Amino acid sequence: KSFRDGLEKTRKGFVEKVSDLIIRRKKIDEEFYEELEEILIGADVGVNTVMTLVEELRAEVKQKRIEDAAELQPILSRKLMELLRGDDDNSLKENPDGITVILFVGVNGVGKTTTIGKLAHRYKQEGKKVLLAAGDTFRAGAIEQLEVWGQRAGVDVIKQQAGSDPAAVMFDAVQAAKQRNVDVLICDTAGRLQNKSNLMEELNKIFRVIQREIPSAPHEVLMVLDATTGQNALSQAKLFGEKSGVTGLVLTKLDGTAKGGIVVAIRQEMNLPVKLVGLGEKMEDLQTFDSSQFVHALFA
Ligand code: GDP
Repeated sequence: KSFRDGLEKTRKGFVEKVSDLIIRRKKIDEEFYEELEEILIGADVGVNTVMTLVEELRAEVKQKRIEDAAELQPILSRKLMELLRGDDDNSLKENPDGITVILFVGVNGVGKTTTIGKLAHRYKQEGKKVLLAAGDTFRAGAIEQLEVWGQRAGVDVIKQQAGSDPAAVMFDAVQAAKQRNVDVLICDTAGRLQNKSNLMEELNKIFRVIQREIPSAPHEVLMVLDATTGQNALSQAKLFGEKSGVTGLVLTKLDGTAKGGIVVAIRQEMNLPVKLVGLGEKMEDLQTFDSSQFVHALFA
């Protein structure tokens, strides 16, 4: 799915409301700003961010002596782009000298396995040799589910039995990746985000095992968040994101929410890039996050 298709709900639930407001009120007065704030907060842009945004809008309206509400739309889309820090490079880091190792973390149900499957497919389409590591040995069914995605994408999965040590799975996976001349090794982890110290311990152990074999790895540690959970996704990211070695965020199920403004809130409140977004359940429904495509899809 393209950004345009994937963001249809947000376009309807958020951008069309702004357009309606502009048409209905025509004039920029106090009530206009209040309604605009409500719409933005309703789209999960986040209260702090909305306050700043509307403050800046007011300043610009005053400075440029804008009276017609219709002139606000392009200003609003530019401001959103700035808030999304449009110049960031959100592409995934690769290891120039060998195997690229990507680790995924995230609580159950956010779409971690699906995203791993989609990413494996994407790399495969690019002609790369991909291997998956079933490092979530904790959750029932996680290994089988990863195997289903492995089959779909046409890539092998390195696994042990349920309950085994994830670090041992990673060790096997790195060995296999070396033997098989793999380009990209994508690792699932249990995450256990319910408990921060467990997560850190488990991740540190995994890091040590991988780094012994590939010193520059992992090249990305991606934390998966479910966009439909709105502000909850943001709290999860805040709780675990910045100090756990996470290098980037993946926002899944953007197609399933009218509150796509959560991307803006996360960009504002987290010092981590949104690297990928999920726009559907199919293998192809994964996009590198691009702020300008995002904003264009909303307003165009
Ligand atoms: P995990 O427990 O984190 O591994 O989550 P799963 O990968 O099993 O995904 C949970 C559910 O979310 C599944 O039904 C997926 O099809 C669905 N899902 C994952 N990503 C997306 C997405 O980008 N869009 C939509 N609409 N559904 C998604």
